[in-house]
Amino acid sequence: MSGLTFKTFSGSSTTLDPAVAKDLAKTIQGEILTAESPGYEKTRVIWNAMIDRKPALIARCKSTDDVVQCVKFAKQHGLLVAVRGGGHNIAGNAICEGGLLIDLSLMRTIQVDAAKQTARVEGGALLGDLDQATQAHGLAVPLGINSTTGVAGLTLGGGFGWISRKYGLTIDNLVSATVVTAAGEKLTASASANSDLFWAIRGGGGNFGVVTSFEFKLHAIGTEVLSGLIVHPLADAKKVLAFYREFAAKAPDELAVWFVLRKAPPLPFLPESWHGKEILALAACYNGDLKTGEKVLQPLRAFGKPIADIIAPHPFTAWQQVLDPLLTPGMRNYWKSHEFLQIPDGLIDVLVDFAGRLPDPQTEIAFAQLGGAIARVPNDATAHSHREANFLVNLHGRWDAAANDSKCIGWSRDLFKALSPFSTGAVYVNFLTADEEERVKMAYGANHVKLAALKKKFDPTNLFRMNMNIRPS
Ligand SMILES: Cc1cc2nc3c(=O)[nH]c(=O)nc-3n(C[C@H](O)[C@H](O)[C@H](O)COP(=O)(O)OP(=O)(O)OC[C@H]3O[C@@H](n4cnc5c(N)ncnc54)[C@H](O)[C@@H]3O)c2cc1C
Repeated sequence: MSGLTFKTFSGSSTTLDPAVAKDLAKTIQGEILTAESPGYEKTRVIWNAMIDRKPALIARCKSTDDVVQCVKFAKQHGLLVAVRGGGHNIAGNAICEGGLLIDLSLMRTIQVDAAKQTARVEGGALLGDLDQATQAHGLAVPLGINSTTGVAGLTLGGGFGWISRKYGLTIDNLVSATVVTAAGEKLTASASANSDLFWAIRGGGGNFGVVTSFEFKLHAIGTEVLSGLIVHPLADAKKVLAFYREFAAKAPDELAVWFVLRKAPPLPFLPESWHGKEILALAACYNGDLKTGEKVLQPLRAFGKPIADIIAPHPFTAWQQVLDPLLTPGMRNYWKSHEFLQIPDGLIDVLVDFAGRLPDPQTEIAFAQLGGAIARVPNDATAHSHREANFLVNLHGRWDAAANDSKCIGWSRDLFKALSPFSTGAVYVNFLTADEEERVKMAYGANHVKLAALKKKFDPTNLFRMNMNIRPS
């Protein structure tokens, strides 16, 4: 076999004797894949089909010690490194071209301590794994809305979902983490151990090391939530959203109402005549006493003339997966995101205008309600910043044929621009697209200076650069 050509982290190429890959394989429990290995092609695929990269080596790690060996190997040879958690991130940083991929997808073990209400979660676990394990005890930690997302990437950027207004961001429930640093050291990060590292990983992404396990505090939410969709014609969207604005402002922490503007998918509860037509779907989740939830949601359900209303008690695990069929892997995706304090009329007008000319049936505008417990944590308490935002929009440019790239990307960019005057200027780091490096500083706001100093302390050579990169100061 000829030499293995790698990309180095300085951008040049280096060729190593294939024997070094065999040597690395001997030091780890997991397996090493090269382009010739069975399973290589499958392992390099990530959620966003726009990303097609070929690492020189893939290390399918099975333990923290495996990760330590891989980090040391990359450092010794100066290799470009990528770390893959769930492989869901839109920017595609979970995979590198020509470098070493540290793949955690075999590390999905979860241990729940029901008495202590904590869970220890390995770095490759998916949201669905964690929900399943915690819900067996009626417990939960706030996570995102698509169950195939990785716990690691979501947590390291902040993490929010249906129950975050009540229990905060995912990071607000992080008790400790095991981190393999660029020096190949295995550190515990918590409020009492390496507290600066603990601050940095709560929002700072994968910049500070490979997190091989997370310990979360859990909440006794029971196993059912009052949840579902209320679907209106796009023609009524302006008045419904004007009502939503007032309703959302008074919502208790137990309630989160998001909305989506898109073409109606062929869902069984929607009349067939509506399939493929533009709709506004309000998605509500009340996590608390079901009877109280009925009362709280009544005005929203009574407003206007919905095409469908499927609000009912649902198992929490089912609700956590309800949007999965619309967010399957393998499609081409280009997303843009903004944060807002309010929803003025002008913003609604722009949303409705662009929803009337969607470039693809899979493309949608997703609007999330934040606030509540998220906003009660000071911005400097964790690396994740901009907790004052009450709403966030994610423009899900999504399609399947490469021939439609420019049409769908163009629509997302145009809408992003049209929404800019209404935004705070901030952005959630986990929703940044590959071409948005200039927005990383905006994502961290005043916390960026401290993050750059901590990057210098924990990763002075910027070994971990396949992320929304914070350069060492
Ligand atoms: C369909 C969809 C729905 C989403 N919904 C939500 C939502 O409701 N709420 C929300 O908060 N976010 C949401 N997100 C964003 C999501 O949080 C990010 O995409 C997140 O980065 C995904 O995590 P991952 O582990 O799957 O990412 P990956 O793509 O594997 O990794 C993302 C980044 O984190 C790094 N990384 C991954 N694992 C580790 C690790 N163990 N240690 C160190 N670095 C690591 C990677 O190197 C990369 O830079 C959604 C994304 C998608 C695509």
